[in-house]
Amino acid sequence: MSSRRTLRTAQDLLDAGLIRSAEPVERVARSYAVALTPAVVDLIDPADPLDPIARQYVPSAAELSTTPDELADPIGDAAYSPVKGLVHRYPDRVLLTPLLVCPVYCRFCFRRARVGDADATMGEAEIAAALAYVAGRPDIREVILTGGDPLMLPPRRLESLLGRIMDIPHVDLVRIHSRVPVGDPGRVSAELAGVLGGAGKAVWLAVHVNHPRELSPKAAAALSRLAGAGIPLLSQTVLLRGVNDTAEVLEELFRALVRNRVRPYYLHHPDLAPGTGHFRLTVAEGRALMRSLRGRLSGIAQPTYVLDIPGGAGKVPVGPEYWDEEGAAVADPAGAWHRYPPD
Ligand SMILES: *Cc1c(COP(=O)(O)O)cnc(C)c1O
Ligand code: SF4
Repeated sequence: MSSRRTLRTAQDLLDAGLIRSAEPVERVARSYAVALTPAVVDLIDPADPLDPIARQYVPSAAELSTTPDELADPIGDAAYSPVKGLVHRYPDRVLLTPLLVCPVYCRFCFRRARVGDADATMGEAEIAAALAYVAGRPDIREVILTGGDPLMLPPRRLESLLGRIMDIPHVDLVRIHSRVPVGDPGRVSAELAGVLGGAGKAVWLAVHVNHPRELSPKAAAALSRLAGAGIPLLSQTVLLRGVNDTAEVLEELFRALVRNRVRPYYLHHPDLAPGTGHFRLTVAEGRALMRSLRGRLSGIAQPTYVLDIPGGAGKVPVGPEYWDEEGAAVADPAGAWHRYPPD
């Protein structure tokens, strides 16, 4: 089944056979953006009520329930935003969000209260103010473009933005976080790859991918084009109940990533975004999954399992740990403890 345009309304989803009733989706869409590209729709099996791709993009009534611990700004970006569109939490790097538009809208998005607003695209004066902030702070070595999805910018605009960032002498590299290679792989044109590869300084790309099926032949071709242009590729995955919460699916995903020349970077514990309780697991469950991958999966295919501390205190690894300081002992991949140094 395929549809050749992006689905955005309850009626679109009904017509595509992806939902049975419009009412809950209409209610969800009043609060949160909805979009499924043809590339994503093609990955969904509409006959499977537990389809892991549909679960990521098709709105569900569960999103209308919020829990008391959920937050519109779950990782406290606002408190660390000195100028509009820029977040400066760590001394050596800043986030810049030139736009809040994405190719697809993920139901678990941690910025779901903000994404989808085309009017939030930064204007020239706002871009200039953010770049002046970076230029005035030599400690900043890395500018991370996120959003929204920076690869939704027309290649020419991206080229101009990259050029202006790279002109700041103390900026060593730009990192781009994007869902485009899997959400709308057709956008990764030779022109776009050329812009990224020809920016004059290193451009790294972290692709957001959560399920092995997302690495379709079209996505693989997009990644290959980027790798061929000299872009080091990383991945970020959100750990999600009903999508990738088994060791088998994670193993298949991380193997598919390294096969596509992508180094798994982060496995994110899901943030406390509003209406996403149905996606969350416990940290103990996440640690058990990571532990089961250690030993059976190549070291280059293992991401770091991280949690972004609510309120803005930062992103940190949450284990599992293999070293017991008090007992001076180390666990092997099978879970048996060994004293170190040995007695
Ligand atoms: C996640 C994040 C970064 C990037 O962190 P890394 O650990 O370098 O990937 C930078 N700034 C902010 C504000 C962030 O939330
Ligand atoms: S692509 Fe990223 S920013 Fe956009 S909706 Fe998905 S998780 Fe959110």
